[in-house]
Amino acid sequence: MAGVYVSYPFCDQKCTYCNFASGVPSAGLESEYINAVTAEIAAHRWQWSPETVYFGGGTPSRASIRQLNRLLDAIPGRPWKEATIEVAPGTVTPGNAQAWKGAGITRASLGVQSFVSRELVRTGRKHTSETVARDVEQLREAGIDHINIDLIAGLPFQNEASWRESLHWVGRLEVGHVSVYMLEVDAGSRLGLEILKGGARYGARDIPDDDCIASFYQEAVEYLHRIGLRRYEISNFARPGFESCHNLKYWRLEPYIGFGADAHSFDGKTRRRNVESAGEYVDRFRRGMDPCASETPAELAEERFFVGLRLEEGIRPAAPELVRFADPIRRFLEDGLLVMEGGLLRLTNRGVLLSNEVFQEFLT
Ligand code: SF4
Repeated sequence: MAGVYVSYPFCDQKCTYCNFASGVPSAGLESEYINAVTAEIAAHRWQWSPETVYFGGGTPSRASIRQLNRLLDAIPGRPWKEATIEVAPGTVTPGNAQAWKGAGITRASLGVQSFVSRELVRTGRKHTSETVARDVEQLREAGIDHINIDLIAGLPFQNEASWRESLHWVGRLEVGHVSVYMLEVDAGSRLGLEILKGGARYGARDIPDDDCIASFYQEAVEYLHRIGLRRYEISNFARPGFESCHNLKYWRLEPYIGFGADAHSFDGKTRRRNVESAGEYVDRFRRGMDPCASETPAELAEERFFVGLRLEEGIRPAAPELVRFADPIRRFLEDGLLVMEGGLLRLTNRGVLLSNEVFQEFLT
């Protein structure tokens, strides 16, 4: 069964490390955008009933309850097996948590990134560890107990002790799911650009080096495992039964449809992507144009390897795939980066750390 992604690309501020197509909306854009996305959903001809819904961003938790209901009411299949909302810490209130639950939301993903104020302040985030603790409590009181916390390894001023503090907060809050991402250094974010230029703004000279970041990741793997959260995907850890059903669809190459700016869709054969900016998306809506910016055939053989191998469960290559990728598979098995057991091919612990190198070889 397939999933639905709805994009809400607006935030209260632009975080220094963020390279998503998101930002602070100009006056009036947000409500026009909701009209456009609702229309896009309403015009869709459903061939299937959605199993999961993911309301991502941006900061969809800043949408009003009326806007959220308009969007979710347009999607068939309620109650969904899983419906996630991405939440900025500090945007949860008892009232909106209850309303999210009433609208069919079952899971909240909190963009915490760090529990250490010194690190948060430099990124533009305004919450504290106490804010997050209160949000988690209010979500649970409303009956939303599938909760994810996002952390970033590699933020300016992060060190061994502060990374441990963030991990211990996760343990203290006893959430069922944690995502650990590495800081992405590219020209798409203000911090990334500053690092590439050799500048000092946003704490660019105070980021930990690559070896430190790798050791933070390793410590997360071990600590989260000790407290019962198993790695099921390179960046994702969960207690049994708390895995993200929606995100698993991406890695298992199951179909999903995306609505809104920069939303992606995959029907099993073709990949579609909507225009990236909210402004252009609304403009196309006003002019009665399709929001789709590109449509390309999926490269299923390659994707099965470089997407599927992200999963701890690995993939079961078919005979022609074993022939086609015989060389890299043999080399990585010999080097101890891949392991094959009972027909299942998966990354080893060392392979996870060098996964980009591995994936590269399956891109032809
Ligand atoms: S990190 Fe999240 S909250 Fe910050 S700008 Fe990006 S999408 Fe918005």
